[in-house]
Amino acid sequence: MPARPRLIAIDGPAAAGKGTLARRLAAHFGLAYLDTGLLYRAVGARVLAAGGDPRDPVAAAAAARAITPDDLALPELRTERAGQAASAVATIPAVRAALSDFQRDFAARPEGAVLDGRDIGTVICPDAPVKLYVTASAEVRAKRRLEEMQARGVAADHAAILAEVRARDEQDAGRAVAPMRPAEDALLLDTSALDPDQAFAAALALIAARLGG
Ligand code: C5P
Repeated sequence: MPARPRLIAIDGPAAAGKGTLARRLAAHFGLAYLDTGLLYRAVGARVLAAGGDPRDPVAAAAAARAITPDDLALPELRTERAGQAASAVATIPAVRAALSDFQRDFAARPEGAVLDGRDIGTVICPDAPVKLYVTASAEVRAKRRLEEMQARGVAADHAAILAEVRARDEQDAGRAVAPMRPAEDALLLDTSALDPDQAFAAALALIAARLGG
């Protein structure tokens, strides 16, 4: 019987397949799952809803302290506008500090947990026994986003989406506080040429090898 990790930290850029993989790993190992991007999206959406600027540190920090579990269920959090606002508030240290206890408490759940984001393996859960850094080329990620939007009947343009993906990567990897990067002990998984089933199988193999299973 392969070993069961108690905590899995997953990081990587937008649209690399982290969320799908994290959900499947959580179900497979019987762990709770937290999409930490939703926290930043909820903060960004709260600032936008109040007519504020997500780059304003005072407004963003106040929004971060005010979010409730209900905020995380809002359908507008999935939009690219909320993603951009999330990326802006995520550069503000007081926002990150306000959200960190919630994430660490979640990671400490007795049943174990999977968290995905940008700084889980590096900042939030540096002692996680399993860390995955999930990537794919910007072109592949933009293509996936485009197909996702087309499937929902939303008009979209590949070049515009590719530009958004690159801009978000740059902002997330280039910020001073908790930049997106693989932890030194992260297992790297490039999903550019993998479908979701193949990515899941590859992740299970990496985890088994890391845990000596
Ligand atoms: O993963 P998702 O695209 O929902 O994240 C939205 C934004 O939130 C990211 O572009 C990033 O700026 C920020 N984020 C973060 N740290 C996390 C999760 C998300 O900075 N742990």
